[in-house]
Amino acid sequence: TSVPTVTLNNGATMPQIGFGVFQVPNAETTAAVAEALRAGYRSIDTATVYGNEEGVGRAIGEAGVPREDLFITTKLWNSAQGYDSTLRAFDESLAKLKLDYLDLYLIHWPTPARGLYTETWKAFAKLAADGRVRSAGVSNFQPNHLAEIVDATGLVPAVNQVELHPRLTQEPLRAYHAEHGIVTEAWSPLGQGKGLLDDPAIGAVAAKYDRSPAQVVLRWHLQLGNVVIPKSVTPSRIAENLDVFDFSLEDADVAALSALNVDSRVGPDPDTNNQA
Ligand code: NAD
Repeated sequence: TSVPTVTLNNGATMPQIGFGVFQVPNAETTAAVAEALRAGYRSIDTATVYGNEEGVGRAIGEAGVPREDLFITTKLWNSAQGYDSTLRAFDESLAKLKLDYLDLYLIHWPTPARGLYTETWKAFAKLAADGRVRSAGVSNFQPNHLAEIVDATGLVPAVNQVELHPRLTQEPLRAYHAEHGIVTEAWSPLGQGKGLLDDPAIGAVAAKYDRSPAQVVLRWHLQLGNVVIPKSVTPSRIAENLDVFDFSLEDADVAALSALNVDSRVGPDPDTNNQA
C-alpha cells in the first residue's frame, strides 16, 4: 500500500494515515511498530508522556526503512513547557528515538491556566529554524490558543492534532484550520473503538460497502481531508486500518457519519486540562 500524503503549510508532506502508540507499554511498542512498518505504515505518532519513545526508536533502528521515508512525530509533555525546558526535552526525546531530526513536534496540550504555551511555541520556532524539527505543530489547541501563538511568532502551526471522530466532528475548528492553512489531524479517530464502532448507523454503512466499521470511519476521515493515527496492537487490525484506499463513501454516507456528532469527548477538554 502506498499511503496518500497531505502537503503542510511549509511544503513538507505527511502520510494521511499514521500509526498511534498511546497506551502501548514500551516493551510492546517495538513489536507493534515493527508490525506497522511491515504493513506499510511510514508515519508513527508517539509522545514523551506515553513512555515508549525508546520502543519506537528501537523499531525504527531495526526495520531498515530509509529515514527519509519515515515521518516521526512526538509531543512535548506539559511539565516541560517553557523556552529552555522545551529545548532540553526535545534533546531527550530525540536521544530516546535515536534520531537526529524529527518530522513533526507537537505541544501536547495548551494547559492554558499555566500560561506557558506561547514561550513554548517560541522554542518550537527555534527548533524549526534550526532544521531539527521539519514541521512544528500543536495538539489540543483551540482557535484562541492558535491565534495567540501566531500573533507572537508569525509561525503558523503545520498541524493541530485534536480529538475528532463521528461523535465529535469539530466543524468550527476544522473551518478555522482550513482558513489558516493548518492540517487537521484526528486523535482517537475511531473514538477509541468501543461504543462508536458498535453504532448501528456505522454498521449499516459498513454492510453497504462490505467493509468493517473501523474502515468506514477511517474513510470518512480521509474524505474530509483529516490525517488519522488509528491505534491497534493486533496485526490483523493494523493491516485492516491501512486497507482503505480501494473504495470510497458516497457523499450521503459521509453525511450520515457526520450526523452522529453529539460534541462528546472521550478525552479531556483542552480549555480546562491543566495537568502538568
Ligand atoms: P483510536 O480511536 O485509534 O482507537 C483505538 C482502539 O480502537 C484500539 O485500542 C482498539 O480497541 C480499537 N480498534 C483499533 N482498530 C480496530 C479495528 N480495525 N476494529 C475494531 N477495533 C479497533 O484511539 P486512540 O489510541 O486513543 O487514538 C489513536 C492515537 O491518537 C493514539 O495512539 C495516539 O497516538 C493519539 N492520541 C493523541 C492524543 C493527544 O492528546 N494528542 C490523545 C489520545 C490519543
